[in-house]
Amino acid sequence: MSLARVLPYAKELLESVIHEGDCVVDMTAGNGHDTLFLAEQVGPDGRVIAFDVQGQAIEETKRRLETAHVKEWVDLYHESHIHVGARLANEARPIRAGVFNLGYLPGSDKSVTTTGEDTLEALGALLPVLVPGGLIVLVIYHGHVEGKRERDAVLDYVESLPQQDYAVLQYRFLNQQNNPPFIIAIEKKLKKQTLD
Ligand code: SAM
Repeated sequence: MSLARVLPYAKELLESVIHEGDCVVDMTAGNGHDTLFLAEQVGPDGRVIAFDVQGQAIEETKRRLETAHVKEWVDLYHESHIHVGARLANEARPIRAGVFNLGYLPGSDKSVTTTGEDTLEALGALLPVLVPGGLIVLVIYHGHVEGKRERDAVLDYVESLPQQDYAVLQYRFLNQQNNPPFIIAIEKKLKKQTLD
């Protein structure tokens, strides 16, 4: 057995909770790799909601989804993920998972990056609507200045989540150089049944 690398492990975690027919959220669509992966997991009876603040990212994601014939069950929003609560307000399917692949779009304008402030606002809106047993996965890139601030803000936030409600995991290679990305996964715990 070898240890899973960060991005494959993020997918493994998501795959382990998502069922066909679920609603799931890609908080940073980027080039659409994660959106496509999520669309394949939930299938045509499910729904993927995806956000990005850059038109280029939305166009690239749309192209990728159309090529794979999965666009029909994906809603793409050219806006910040802070609007996730409003976009999920009328969703009847269980909201099972969310993924934040943080930082900037590879090969694009590095000044357009996720921020600690918006990421925490979006997390605060997504956690309450997540179904018990659901999972949020964040891939944290902290090689740039805002990435370091965002990393610290996210770590502070998740460390303060009540342990009776959430299980929080960090998956990180400790001996790699140059600030490699790492994972934070937040599981919303199932409520224990009380016996009368
Ligand atoms: N998940 C993507 C993929 O599979 O290709 C990669 C995402 S890339 C590392 C980060 C993306 O977050 C960029 O495309 C950037 O435009 C987007 N972004 C930055 N701030 C955002 C915000 N407030 N809401 C939504 N997306 C944002």
